[in-house]
Amino acid sequence: MKKIVVIGAGIAGLEVSKQLLQANLPVTLIEQSSKIGGNIKNYAYLFPDFYNAEDLLNSYQYIITDPNLQLLLNAHVSKIDFSKKIYNVITKDGITIPADAIVIATGYNTFDARLKEEFGYGIYDNVITSVELEQMFKKQEIITPSGKVPERIGFIHCVGSRDAKVSNTYCSRLCCITAIKQAIETKKLLPLVEIFCFYIDLRMYGLLFEDLYLSAQRDYNIQFVRGRLSEASEMIDKKIQIKAEDTLIGRPLQMSADMIVLMVGMEASDFSKQFKYHNDLNVNEHGFFDPINPHNLRNLTAKEGVFLAGTSIGPMSVGETIDHARGTALSVLSYIKSN
Ligand code: SF4
Repeated sequence: MKKIVVIGAGIAGLEVSKQLLQANLPVTLIEQSSKIGGNIKNYAYLFPDFYNAEDLLNSYQYIITDPNLQLLLNAHVSKIDFSKKIYNVITKDGITIPADAIVIATGYNTFDARLKEEFGYGIYDNVITSVELEQMFKKQEIITPSGKVPERIGFIHCVGSRDAKVSNTYCSRLCCITAIKQAIETKKLLPLVEIFCFYIDLRMYGLLFEDLYLSAQRDYNIQFVRGRLSEASEMIDKKIQIKAEDTLIGRPLQMSADMIVLMVGMEASDFSKQFKYHNDLNVNEHGFFDPINPHNLRNLTAKEGVFLAGTSIGPMSVGETIDHARGTALSVLSYIKSN
């Protein structure tokens, strides 16, 4: 019986595994953390419809009991041996798993906001990231780290994306819509809070994203300021002083906020850093795995029998990730059938 190894048990890895198990193929799913779910565990609700992220993750729980699935948690892949026709995936603990095909579904890292020192993350209490705000939504309570119900919040777009200073010139695609989703959720919990979103330009590429943007302005009175934050500093009362330039009116702007939220972008995973250029596992200039082409071969690597799924190839939404993972499962099935 052919055996597939899927590396990464985030949404992409879970979807690929689900599809392959449905086709009665045995799957070994390797996850470096102690739980399945990957980055979706960080989210309370998904855009654009505020779908409960936990419900989505729970819809995959049943595959864990599938007799054809071997799930390895807390397992780090240290080496892939491509020297024989049947590959061997080797973990740091010395477990060797034979594989007729390998799917890389290792997801993304979120940008480390401390690298934008001028925004004060890790220095000032009331500078948080979008991931941390999402944790507050899970508790349904928004309190600043210094313990206050905020009256004014600034959302800062493009933190760690479209920024040559941190060597990430690409757009992470999803942080504009995430900011709008989070701003609306914040207003639902704190109707009196003032919210200002500081953006370079808004990238509302999805069908319903523009509607959410219009609703944020019309129904929730969220203010959008076109301007890049130049500096944040802490005031004596722990508020954050924001300095930016309003690029629509061409004037510098200053305001204080009880908290600022940094919309951190998506970066290539540690796994792609570890395995880049390893036996035809190419990465692009941004560190994400490079499929053979980005059109009709975007699930395939140049290495025979090694496939890509989800955000291992670049930023994509949860829905796009699931679609891409289904395409990957189809490519694996056709490869297994013909070999
Ligand atoms: S999606 Fe928006 S916030 Fe994110 S990098 Fe692109 S422009 Fe910036």
